[in-house]
Amino acid sequence: MQLTNRSKLVVNKQMNFWERIYLPAILKGMGTTLKHFFKVIFNKSNTLRYPEVKREFAKVYRGWHVLKRDEQGRENCTACGLCAVACPAEAITMVAAEREKGQEHLYREEKYAAVYEINMLRCIFCGLCEEACPKEAIFLTDRIVPSDYVRQDFVFGKDMLVEGIVPEQRVDVTVRQKHLQEKRAAQTAS
Ligand code: SF4
Ligand code: SF4
Repeated sequence: MQLTNRSKLVVNKQMNFWERIYLPAILKGMGTTLKHFFKVIFNKSNTLRYPEVKREFAKVYRGWHVLKRDEQGRENCTACGLCAVACPAEAITMVAAEREKGQEHLYREEKYAAVYEINMLRCIFCGLCEEACPKEAIFLTDRIVPSDYVRQDFVFGKDMLVEGIVPEQRVDVTVRQKHLQEKRAAQTAS
């Protein structure tokens, strides 16, 4: 039964002289290669000379996560686990702990994540952890997860995720968040 009319009937016909010497086919193939070669050379809009030139990311690009601190430098995360539950890749694991007396300057809530890990090899950068978080603790940023040779190095712990306390070590997430808010507002209005 024929389902489409795209099928081709293969005929085992005798090759002619030009087909037997393969020269026209080779020239035709080289012509195609040269056509693409010059297209790549002269069409600068499609080709960037990486790593000297880097392509600008979309404003909503989702990369390496950050665990944010509040304005007093305390960790926002309260280890509620909602991000882990929301994660479709099961990339997030954490161990919660009770805040001790005298640790109020470190953790904003009474409970905090003593261990917080994201397996970047499992993560699909969907952003659902960010959306699930009720404490504005986790955000995806425009930073690229660096390459590595060892699988274990892709399990990012708090040392790789929590932003620094001093202003120079803070990770700015406002540009992407502002863009997302504008986008949502435009969708609601339409
Ligand atoms: S971005 Fe998506 S896949 Fe990655 S940790 Fe967050 S929820 Fe999981
Ligand atoms: S990052 Fe947010 S959602 Fe995840 S455990 Fe911390 S507070 Fe909860």
